[in-house]
Amino acid sequence: METAVNASGRETEVLIVGAGPTGLALATMLVRSGVVPVIVDKLTTGENTSRAAVIHAHTLEVLEKLGVSERLGERGLRLARFSLRDRDRVLVRLHFDTLPTRYNYLLMLPQDMTEKILAERLAEGGGAVRWGCTVEALSETPDGVRVSVVSGAGKETIRARYVIGADGMHSVVRQTAGIGFTGQSYEESFVLADVEMAWDHGREEVMLFFSPAGLLVVAPLPAGTYRIVATLDNAPEQAGVADVQALLDTRGPTHGVARVSRVQWSSRFRLHHRVADHYRRGRLLLVGDAAHVHSPAGGQGMNTGLVDACVLGRILADVVSGRRDDTHLDTYETLRRPAAQQVLQLAGRLTHMAIMKSAPQRFLRNSVLGIVSQFPGFRRSLEMNLSGLSRRAAAELSQ
Ligand SMILES: Cc1cc2nc3c(=O)[nH]c(=O)nc-3n(C[C@H](O)[C@H](O)[C@H](O)COP(=O)(O)OP(=O)(O)OC[C@H]3O[C@@H](n4cnc5c(N)ncnc54)[C@H](O)[C@@H]3O)c2cc1C
Repeated sequence: METAVNASGRETEVLIVGAGPTGLALATMLVRSGVVPVIVDKLTTGENTSRAAVIHAHTLEVLEKLGVSERLGERGLRLARFSLRDRDRVLVRLHFDTLPTRYNYLLMLPQDMTEKILAERLAEGGGAVRWGCTVEALSETPDGVRVSVVSGAGKETIRARYVIGADGMHSVVRQTAGIGFTGQSYEESFVLADVEMAWDHGREEVMLFFSPAGLLVVAPLPAGTYRIVATLDNAPEQAGVADVQALLDTRGPTHGVARVSRVQWSSRFRLHHRVADHYRRGRLLLVGDAAHVHSPAGGQGMNTGLVDACVLGRILADVVSGRRDDTHLDTYETLRRPAAQQVLQLAGRLTHMAIMKSAPQRFLRNSVLGIVSQFPGFRRSLEMNLSGLSRRAAAELSQ
């Protein structure tokens, strides 16, 4: 349990660095298990941008333990279908409404809303984020970790038994632990934009267009807007109406109206595919983007981090409360690192297929997909993979 030690220092069983979606989910899981962690974030308040916009079925199953799945479901837009296309031609159409789960849909919800719902749940359990606190350095001692934190109030040292890096791709916890982040960074970047537009192609389906110019995703969002995602060699920092329109005109459907009237939010980011070599070193552990980053094709990043957080939360609660010994923490990497590797493979394949440039390669891809998509087993395997349900075992702990 968190205990104040003196005016300049604190002591806690668990310190979480980062209050993005994975840090918030982990803190909520711990609080619900009777362990109140200290959770700090260098931002002065929670992020308010859209970013990850889809929550998959398996994530909702796992988030039931936090009591947030229903709330998320009420706020989001439920979609039954996902299609892979080459301009007007549907190559593969997936049906999520036939999946073996009570969450048989793709839930579209901007990430700031997801974080808000998680933060509310954390507060209901008695937890609170310490915003405006930057972790500058960590050092392991025989019985814990000393963490230097800087805030508006000055510097302080927090002593923790375990420190969790939920601090994103540039994780200071991962760097301090000396854990490698193996993989590659690519030249290509992604443009993201939430737009208002006239769109003749319905609001029931996420469409992923393959195009020699690059990948394009069009996904309906709640409140009548659409998420556009596209790969671009030199993406503008802020995409405008003309930029998004050009993407739709050159990569999207050739018939029907697709006319952008307003860009609500836009961002760009570089493509990285990396997994941490280990998820644990001693008393330091990693979750979410601190442990894995990849292409947003398939919308898996935040989802994988949320499942990591729930699994780690249960394991940590057992260790901290003395029900299991410290070696039980190794289970976390055994379960979750292979899951991240599978997700990287899925996102990598989708991206690779989507951006094939040569005409013969594209012809071959479209022909093969046209044939294999006739087999229900192929479609089901892709649906299970995208929804995360094929990775259920990677979230199950033996009692
Ligand atoms: C523009 C954009 C679009 C995206 N779109 C998608 C998408 O469509 N689908 C998808 O699945 N994913 C998407 N992602 C990825 C998704 O946003 C991440 O996977 C998700 O945010 C990871 O959550 P996290 O909590 O692990 O890390 P983050 O959200 O990065 O949170 C880390 C937190 O740690 C804090 N922090 C960092 N260092 C310190 C420190 N030293 N001290 C204190 N605090 C610290 C940061 O302030 C931050 O709040 C997108 C990301 C971006 C940037």
